[in-house]
Amino acid sequence: MACNVIMLGPPGAGKGTQAERLASLHGIPKISTGDILREAIKTGTELGRLARKRMDAGQLVSDDVMIGIVKERVERPDAAEGFVLDGFPRTVAQAEALDRLLDGRGPVAVVHMVVPRDVLVARLTMRRVCADCGANAAPGAPADARCPRCGGALVQRADDDVAIVQERLDVFERQTTPLVAFYQARPTFFEIDGNRPPDEVHAAMRAAIDSMAPVRARVERA
Ligand code: AMP
Repeated sequence: MACNVIMLGPPGAGKGTQAERLASLHGIPKISTGDILREAIKTGTELGRLARKRMDAGQLVSDDVMIGIVKERVERPDAAEGFVLDGFPRTVAQAEALDRLLDGRGPVAVVHMVVPRDVLVARLTMRRVCADCGANAAPGAPADARCPRCGGALVQRADDDVAIVQERLDVFERQTTPLVAFYQARPTFFEIDGNRPPDEVHAAMRAAIDSMAPVRARVERA
């Protein structure tokens, strides 16, 4: 049964971690626009060159570029049965384009993760990620710990610097908060308290998505 999920929420809400778990549970890809851009920077493509300045400043990359990336990605065969989108859409223009892209592909769960700002700042400025594969280290991992996935060195993301974190949260409030208004009247919109242990957040997300099963079955029969 098709399972399309959009994760909404500020940087540091735990979208990436939860998207990963949900995607592997359903055997569908997690599509993280931040990961796609970081990969482009690492391999030195034109996209990477274009995105780098904006990302380092905590600003958004342009809607046109992001919509093009997501269109190409959701049309690949591995996303035919669904996907979990992490970090897209971030603006109302992106959300409108996504509606057009997903027309006819079954219901889309929109999961809004809510976490207080002071908790987000603490999480982001303490976060360590793998320099090689981008995986998050466990919170509170010792300074000399290695990546739990590939053994690579753990570093701070350039945009997790405290001043840039504040800018990213401001950008989120300005440009992404209107997305909640865009989606919240839909029957497949769910608000999840993200300020609790990851297993509890995961269970709440599964319950929300399972509650959509009748909607998904109806759409598939039609
Ligand atoms: P993230 O890993 O989701 O926190 O994204 C890191 C950075 O990538 C953001 O601060 C933006 O500069 C850029 N980015 C990721 N997704 C988008 C998007 N949907 N629209 C615009 N910029 C994005």
